[in-house]
Amino acid sequence: MNNKNYRGNARKKRLTKIKRNRLLRQLPFYIIGMLIIGLLGGLTYLGGTKLAAQIASGRGENPEAEGNDNPSSDETSPEETASLTYTVPDTVSAADALLSEADRIAAGYDYDGAIQLLQNSEFAGSDQVTDAIAEYEAIKATLQPADYHTITHVFFHSLVMDEAKAFDGDDDEAGYNQVMTTKDEFLKILDSMHEKGFVLVRLHDIALMTQGDDGQMHMTPQQILLPEGKKACVMSQDDVCYYPYMTGDGFASRMVIGSDGKPACEMTMDDGSVSVGAYDLVPLLEEYIQAHPDFSYKGARAVIAFTGYEGILGYRTSSSYSDSPTYEQDRQAAAAVAQCLRDNGWELASHSWGHRDMGTIDYDKFKADCDKWENEVETLIGDTDIILFPFGADISDWHPYTHENERFNYLKSLGFDYYCNVDSSPYWVQLGGDYIRQGRRNLDGYRMWKDIEAGEGSPDRKLDDLFRAEDVFSSNRPTPVEWS
Ligand SMILES: [Zn+2]
Repeated sequence: MNNKNYRGNARKKRLTKIKRNRLLRQLPFYIIGMLIIGLLGGLTYLGGTKLAAQIASGRGENPEAEGNDNPSSDETSPEETASLTYTVPDTVSAADALLSEADRIAAGYDYDGAIQLLQNSEFAGSDQVTDAIAEYEAIKATLQPADYHTITHVFFHSLVMDEAKAFDGDDDEAGYNQVMTTKDEFLKILDSMHEKGFVLVRLHDIALMTQGDDGQMHMTPQQILLPEGKKACVMSQDDVCYYPYMTGDGFASRMVIGSDGKPACEMTMDDGSVSVGAYDLVPLLEEYIQAHPDFSYKGARAVIAFTGYEGILGYRTSSSYSDSPTYEQDRQAAAAVAQCLRDNGWELASHSWGHRDMGTIDYDKFKADCDKWENEVETLIGDTDIILFPFGADISDWHPYTHENERFNYLKSLGFDYYCNVDSSPYWVQLGGDYIRQGRRNLDGYRMWKDIEAGEGSPDRKLDDLFRAEDVFSSNRPTPVEWS
């Protein structure tokens, strides 16, 4: 069944019904209105005030009584009609608002949440609410559980907002060209993935540590229910620290809480002023999901990963900055933004403190790095159980982790249960007894260039299930994009 059409038709039917019901319900008010007009007309005739005449004429032309939905076309001023304001139009718009909100929740696949909202409302039992609930129940019956083995995971770094500044020939250009994605590329990737049916889920939607019958904690797959044709995917962003070296190269400078309470970014403009807006993945994805609620499963966003050595989110919160006069203030601001991210559906993760190769550095250094991340970053962002390995460098090969692996034991002791490396296969998921591992795919300049270089139809292309690299790759990038 094509759920989209089904939903669209049902919604149209419901709206027609609402309009019909509205007219029927307004009929008695219309009659009362006519009676009042008669009465006021009489008053005017008997030397009543000019105001009464105005009320009468305003009343007679009330567009609501004619079934016109636009109350602003009523030319009578609010003061003049205040005493005679209808209550029905408000009630109708409240019912409409409720149904729209339920539709928005259902668009994010939370059909139970939408049904609950309607059932607990003052309009429960009305025809349109009953119809809407029946519609959601019908869609629910068609949902398919996602196979967790096939869930893809894509990742990005800070997005290039100003391509001219990032690709300007300076020493950092090659690095940006390889591992960064531009804003326009990112938006094209979102459109393509959305069109192909991808839906963002949280790592915690895929599997959760739960207590088994044996009293032990086990990583347990969770059911993700989606309409046919929809595919679950995870997204993450690494190094969301706005490192000092990126200053002046066309990136955001830090993340803040926007005036709407949602995460936003600051960026320094050419005239030196600081603008707040959608200057990186987080606010861009917030905007995208606002416009396309069916791109997010039950409010899921992406995983945001932090190192610690230069602080997080653009705030210099690392201990090496403790002499800064704004150090405490910066730490508090970073913690508030991290909480704002969590409140809006984002998951937070470790990317190691020093961006280290966690598989090969000496074990002492490995432990020290983990401890430093716990002390300097987790104290700001709260408990997290996700680690996204820098360079994709895992703590073992592809074989399942065992408790013979001291690095795994140490990370487990710190509370990590979700481990992500880098792998260009469409999907790689390994469910262990007490952990889950997932491969992540880099959607950056280097990977896109490799697809373009391989040519159409080549088995070396890795991105075609998500988007066609030729349609996305920015013409402002220096080519070829080489790995250095
Ligand atoms: Zn990194």
